[in-house]
Amino acid sequence: MTVGSSLLNPIYLFKGDAPLAEFAATQPAVIKMGMKVIGPKMFKEYPYTDAYMFDDARQIREAIDLPMMLLGGIVDRPSMDKATGAGFDFVAMGRGLLREPDLPLKLQEDERRRSLCVHCNRCMATIYSGSRCVLREYVRPIPARSSAS
Ligand code: SF4
Repeated sequence: MTVGSSLLNPIYLFKGDAPLAEFAATQPAVIKMGMKVIGPKMFKEYPYTDAYMFDDARQIREAIDLPMMLLGGIVDRPSMDKATGAGFDFVAMGRGLLREPDLPLKLQEDERRRSLCVHCNRCMATIYSGSRCVLREYVRPIPARSSAS
């Protein structure tokens, strides 16, 4: 189950910071100008909390008899346990995996670990050029030195 619209009110869906300036910077000039007018209405901020769709999703969970997945702010073991404890069959991660693709393994190894995602939502502005976490460091392997030198 999910909520809202990523087009009409994206931060209601994602929660956290509203990256209006970063998003406008990716748009053609005419849309950029339009965003100055409608952007603040479209990109309203909604505070982030872990498992933020839980209360709404649980009402559906209790009313239907189908497998269900909880998403939205699944960042650590407590948020996963909260979901499975309420009868959800799966959890889904989005930004947590953009920030750390190996996050599930890290959570498996360390129960106290949480996602490094800070919910800045600046990854939203990368959807046209390959969605990615702007805070993630891409470490390139250092080429091996030739033994002939
Ligand atoms: S840019 Fe990175 S840290 Fe910011 S919300 Fe996206 S995934 Fe999280």
